[in-house]
Amino acid sequence: MDDFAADPSHPRYASLLMRHRLEVAEKRGMLAGSAMIAHGRGEAFDYLLGERTTPSAAAASRQALAVLQAAKRPVLSVNGNVAALACDDMLRLADALQCPLEVNIFYRTPERMEAILSYINERKEALGLDVTVLGDAPDATIPGLKGPRAACHREGILESDAILVPLEDGDRCQALVAMGKTVVVIDLNPLSRSAQQASITIVDELSRALKTMLELAEKEDRLHIDETYDHHAILQAGLAEMLRAMNGR
Ligand code: ATP
Ligand code: MG
Repeated sequence: MDDFAADPSHPRYASLLMRHRLEVAEKRGMLAGSAMIAHGRGEAFDYLLGERTTPSAAAASRQALAVLQAAKRPVLSVNGNVAALACDDMLRLADALQCPLEVNIFYRTPERMEAILSYINERKEALGLDVTVLGDAPDATIPGLKGPRAACHREGILESDAILVPLEDGDRCQALVAMGKTVVVIDLNPLSRSAQQASITIVDELSRALKTMLELAEKEDRLHIDETYDHHAILQAGLAEMLRAMNGR
């Protein structure tokens, strides 16, 4: 993925880099047909946000990391877009948390699963990280979901107590919350069903949110969980920040 030639001083460099990563992943067969649409929706919200990490997003990332650190069985869920956009940082976060990473995709086909798993394993080797990567042999199902999108690993998603699901679909998010898990979502759309239903929602671009968490994990040993954290107030603050950013232009 390093054949990207755009100039880093280009005002849309980060956005162009993410688009490039999706194009490469698409060629490798990692993405669902709707992947570009999902990304485009994210980009639109990021534009409204001013393409920056807002104070409420930073607070949500801090709480998310604290909760994942305190969990007995944390797990990170990865779909095609997440693997395409932020594979290395997801692996680094799994390594920092000493937890497994599970490939779990909405439109599951053996070919896409294989394409995503082989890419993640390639990057894991390149980074020299000792992370358990699950997804190749699901042996359990998420209650309340029908068909192949319910498939998961017992030692991963099924038995986890806290789960990070970036760019997750609303139905699946709801099913995970109904299982009693602490569900952390990263979603630029504060109005999506996932954003609304999660336990903690980080309204930020995926790679920025992961960067915030990785920096915190490196700087501070173990974060304190904020007992007064208010999920709905943080979402409201995210929306208000978008409106302020729009008015300021
Ligand atoms: P829901 O099912 O939760 O109601 P949706 O159907 O509108 O949401 P999906 O297509 O299921 O949306 O998921 C894509 C979501 O991911 C969108 O809400 C979009 O804003 C968000 N998204 C896309 N790319 C990124 C990104 N790079 N960083 C953060 N969020 C993103
Ligand atoms: Mg959806």
